[in-house]
Amino acid sequence: MFIELTDHLRCPADHPEHYLVLLPDRIVERSVLAGRLGCPVCGRTYAVAEGIAELDGPPPGPPLGGALDPAAMHVLLGLGGPGGYAALVGSAAESWRGLAETLAGVALVAVNPPVGVTDAAPLLSVVRAPLVPLKTRTLRGVVLGAEVSTDPHWVREAARATLPGLRVVGQGRAPAVAELELLASADGHWVAARR
Ligand SMILES: [Zn+2]
Repeated sequence: MFIELTDHLRCPADHPEHYLVLLPDRIVERSVLAGRLGCPVCGRTYAVAEGIAELDGPPPGPPLGGALDPAAMHVLLGLGGPGGYAALVGSAAESWRGLAETLAGVALVAVNPPVGVTDAAPLLSVVRAPLVPLKTRTLRGVVLGAEVSTDPHWVREAARATLPGLRVVGQGRAPAVAELELLASADGHWVAARR
């Protein structure tokens, strides 16, 4: 996990949004390989193990395939210029490396990626959580995997964590979520802007 990402993480527990405090055990260059993340509000602590932040998320499932092509992700996210973070939820993370090459300078966060997607900080940090464990209005964009694109929980979480005016991309039926304005929908994909 990219150490600078720690500043943007939130506790996944069901209480008002609050940051986490890192207690590192092992840092190599700017990557946290082992340690704990503690919440000052609820007192829970979460492990960072093998570079992955384990924030009460589901265990990794098998690769699903079907992730958007990295070039398509790049176009749909519409990001110009380096800086900040973009998240790939579920199977969308299977295409992370190609996206990292075209989005130079934007750090990626994989949320609940399938088996085989591992920590590659600072380019890619991996987190496992029941939500998008980033503070509200933090991300420069989110791509949802097909299996989470039509789940209102994950669509709302993607919208919450995205900066106003920036984009959430998904597959399948376009969402009806108040926080998102649909920009386009074609070929089984949709792109929406955070209001
Ligand atoms: Zn907490």
